[in-house]
Amino acid sequence: MPPADRLAAEVCDVVVVGGGIGGLTAAALLAKAGLQVELLEAHHQSGGCAGTFRRGPYTFDVGATQVAGLESGGIHARLFAHLGVDPPAASPLDPGCSVLLAGETTPIQLWRDPQRWALERQRHFPGSERFWQFCGSLHAANWAFNRRDPILPPRNAWDLATMLGALGPAPLASGLLVGATVLDLLRLAGCAGDQRLRRFLDLQLRLYSQQPADHTAALYGATVLAMAQEPLGLWHLHGSMQTLSAALEQGLARAGGRLRLRHRVERLVPPGQHPTQGTWRVEGQCHGTTPFQIAARDVICTAPVQALPALLGESLPLGYRRRLAGFDDPSGALVFYGAIDRDRLPAEHPLHLQLEWGDPGPLFVSISAEEDGHAPAGQATVIASVFTPARPWFEHGEDTYQERKRAAQAGIEAGLVQLLDLAPKSFRHSELSTPRGFLRWTGRPFGFVGGLGQTPGRFGPFGLASRSPLTGLWLCGDSIFPGEGTAGVSQSAHMACRQLLARRGFSLSLAG
Ligand SMILES: Cc1cc2nc3c(=O)[nH]c(=O)nc-3n(C[C@H](O)[C@H](O)[C@H](O)COP(=O)(O)OP(=O)(O)OC[C@H]3O[C@@H](n4cnc5c(N)ncnc54)[C@H](O)[C@@H]3O)c2cc1C
Repeated sequence: MPPADRLAAEVCDVVVVGGGIGGLTAAALLAKAGLQVELLEAHHQSGGCAGTFRRGPYTFDVGATQVAGLESGGIHARLFAHLGVDPPAASPLDPGCSVLLAGETTPIQLWRDPQRWALERQRHFPGSERFWQFCGSLHAANWAFNRRDPILPPRNAWDLATMLGALGPAPLASGLLVGATVLDLLRLAGCAGDQRLRRFLDLQLRLYSQQPADHTAALYGATVLAMAQEPLGLWHLHGSMQTLSAALEQGLARAGGRLRLRHRVERLVPPGQHPTQGTWRVEGQCHGTTPFQIAARDVICTAPVQALPALLGESLPLGYRRRLAGFDDPSGALVFYGAIDRDRLPAEHPLHLQLEWGDPGPLFVSISAEEDGHAPAGQATVIASVFTPARPWFEHGEDTYQERKRAAQAGIEAGLVQLLDLAPKSFRHSELSTPRGFLRWTGRPFGFVGGLGQTPGRFGPFGLASRSPLTGLWLCGDSIFPGEGTAGVSQSAHMACRQLLARRGFSLSLAG
């Protein structure tokens, strides 16, 4: 084996593992705070689940297709203002999504205007307004708490003081519902028996929490159900999802941080376990062939927590290892990437749709806008994703795998034909990625996506902390509060950076 390259001549302040949105955010914030930062990304480009890939004339978003947090005061907007970088160009989505339940022809439109959305839901779900009012009050309290940048869950006195500082009277009241599910809210409102409402809620909640209404934490669900409306809202980026990573990369570079692509981290060795005492040693392979190592005072790991046992080996405390082993598997995803002539699509269509569909499961569909950088003029990309249990995709030989893959793709295409009223064989291009593809693309064990399911026992105070049990190792990404989504992982990155900097005697505060 060739000798390992020492990447940094001296010890750097921080190594960030993984250049998805979480890692880019953390690295840019710490570089801006004046630390010497090395961001190591295994892939040939940044972005991770919010990245893109090219096929001929098409640019496909790998996973994420819409963005929250770009509104004034939202986490992405605050971040870009702090970094002194223009946010990516984006348009608000209205409706945020158009949801079609099985066997129906009239979709439920998640309008951006709260009044219009209230009328829409009253029309579709008469008698449910008390439920929506409960959700609205909980969401308002959550949001007030969130805007004060709490640390959750707290692991030391500084964390606790910061969390208590973010509490106000309303969040304290909503804290009484910390053990409740969305189904409990439905019961309180007297509409738990409305099966059509339950089906709609299950579709919405699974997208973010991986759980249906009877398992999703009420505090989390209340906010998920308010995501599409002002003053929050969802955004469509002009020029593909990669523009979000590109803007963060710009912030990192401007602050003097360094992004090293094709650097896969294989081992994290804590201080005291190697000759360079007092620092972490980060070891890995660059370009797949050349070993490297780098010493750092702190490490931020953005890979999903299921990757920690392999990265830390025996250094991972037994109690923590057992806790990780006790978690249910996160989901995997099947994602269909298609390209189509625009004249084959309905004349008027929203950019994001959901279809309650049986096989392989409910579809979340994103259609590119004209000239938004995804497809040549007159054509569109159509992306449809479905959650799937991840491990079974690794359990069979190649023939069975290919057979399952073909069946899943046929199932998704059949759903798209119905949803978009397409003639058969309308796609100019079509392919499917499975958890195997996500493992290759993002290094996520078993291609898991979406973090931990947001049940009452895993959400907020009961979830995994960004302060790990090992001094100098910090965690962020979708396994950490507040969970998945580009806005969620940027928020967890911000939280980890504040803790890291506080330990060094500095503070970090984003305006807005
Ligand atoms: C199908 C799908 C649809 C989605 N839709 C949306 C959506 O519309 N809107 C939304 O906001 N969110 C959406 N999400 C969720 C969102 O994409 C993720 O929550 C978020 O992008 C995760 O960011 P991250 O930085 O935590 O992790 P990742 O994106 O997984 O990034 C981690 C990075 O670390 C790198 N890495 C991993 N291991 C190593 C290692 N050992 N060494 C070096 N590098 C390593 C990976 O290559 C990767 O680039 C979707 C996700 C999926 C899968």
